[in-house]
Amino acid sequence: MYRRSFLSFIRGASLTALTAVPERAQTPARDLRIAYGGIGIECSTYSRLRTRMNEFTILRGAELTSSDRFKFLKRYPVTFMPTLVATATPGGPVERQTYETIKAEFLKRLEALLPLDGLYLPMHGAMFVDGMQDAEADWYHAARRVVGPDCLLSASYDLHGNISQPIIDTLDMLSAFRTAPHIDREETMLRATDMLLHCLREKIRPTLMWVPIPVLMPGERSSTEWDPGKRLWAQLPALNREPGILDVSLLVGYVWADEPRSTAAVVITGTAPDNQRRIATNLAQQYWDARAEFKFGTETCTVDDCVQRAMDAKTQPAILADSGDNPTGGGNSDQATVLESLLRHKAQNVVFAGITDRPATEACYKAGVGARVSLSIGATLDPKASQPVKAEAVVKFLLADADPAHHEAVVQIPVEAGALPRQGITLVLSAYRRPYHDIQDFTRLGLDPKSFKIIVVKSGYLSPELAPIANPSLMALSDGAINQDIVHLPANRYRRPSYPFVADLKFTPKVYGSVRNRP
Ligand SMILES: [Zn+2]
Repeated sequence: MYRRSFLSFIRGASLTALTAVPERAQTPARDLRIAYGGIGIECSTYSRLRTRMNEFTILRGAELTSSDRFKFLKRYPVTFMPTLVATATPGGPVERQTYETIKAEFLKRLEALLPLDGLYLPMHGAMFVDGMQDAEADWYHAARRVVGPDCLLSASYDLHGNISQPIIDTLDMLSAFRTAPHIDREETMLRATDMLLHCLREKIRPTLMWVPIPVLMPGERSSTEWDPGKRLWAQLPALNREPGILDVSLLVGYVWADEPRSTAAVVITGTAPDNQRRIATNLAQQYWDARAEFKFGTETCTVDDCVQRAMDAKTQPAILADSGDNPTGGGNSDQATVLESLLRHKAQNVVFAGITDRPATEACYKAGVGARVSLSIGATLDPKASQPVKAEAVVKFLLADADPAHHEAVVQIPVEAGALPRQGITLVLSAYRRPYHDIQDFTRLGLDPKSFKIIVVKSGYLSPELAPIANPSLMALSDGAINQDIVHLPANRYRRPSYPFVADLKFTPKVYGSVRNRP
């Protein structure tokens, strides 16, 4: 039975919803024509940077089929036909022309595959394009115009994605991550593709419903590793097993986008509207009731206090997260504010990974390993947002990569003249915006992070690899494009009233359906 084998890929998934469907002639999977493609980025509207074409990684055609991310599609007894998938490190809004160019190519590739029964859209959900509100809805509308009204559209989402009524009106099904940090990427994509294949084979058009919840939290307060996030999301697998339920998604939304659609949401795909309404209302009410409980999961402090606490810690390594400038949340990653504080405090035995600074990185490559260099570090991408730091450094390591756009250098900044190796600050400079959240990001540069007293990373909540070694873990509430002090964010012009921006809101969950399900 193909039907059974599809869902058996998903840990803990249930067949209840599927077995509730009356037996009838199925469409053989091999006869189905299904395409896939999408665009994924998270954009802070508080960033002055623009995401341009050179920052997107675009996989097309066979590159997609052979990629690690989509190899799970080979398990199905149907060929998922690739179009393109464009992804970029979170950052500033996408430049309009870049978006239009990628979209045009996606649509052209989609058109070449017509006719289609289904389209799988691997998305993020928090894209902001210059001059556009609700960019994902624009992408889906454009795809819908090409594939026609009968083709089923299934999207997978990050739980930090934003939903809107136009999105619900255009898609047929949606599944979002259930973990933050995100450790269920493949399970989520499988839920989206399993639903799609199931509905196509059973000739079902599912019902899509949602409840917007006027609560906006940064990811750092709404992780699924601790309550209330933990208990809220823990219910989803069991709810997914209820009759007629194909997917239950609970989304935090993306707080650093000043858009009307930015909000938390429950989205439910199924074939049992009453059950869907009941579950959606209940989850939305629980989320609302928990709104004042969302707390940071780690110690937070100002930059200076965090540096002092890390230096005073009796245990090591202290991991200090520079949260406002975290590139995986949309931060610039070019700010030297924490570096300035470390130097002022004369911090020793520190590894700092890393600061995006192409000119400083290139200066290191020009000078060579062992050379002393005078560097201006930081504030190269957005000179208005922060100040650079001047420092004398010794070049320790240069990553072998012929492409200057991917250069990374390790320098040592001695705190006092004659300092011994590994004293002072070991700093990673990169030519491009990237995180250092995995141990391998350090070891590939010849660094053992655990051997340092203090590790500084540009991060919010720590990654699954860094969190277990942090001793202690300190999150600096630093300024930047994703400042955690959300109620004081500038230019909240378009956002609808939501908690905590408005403290005394009243809310009663209201379920909205999709125009596609109206008779
Ligand atoms: Zn996310």
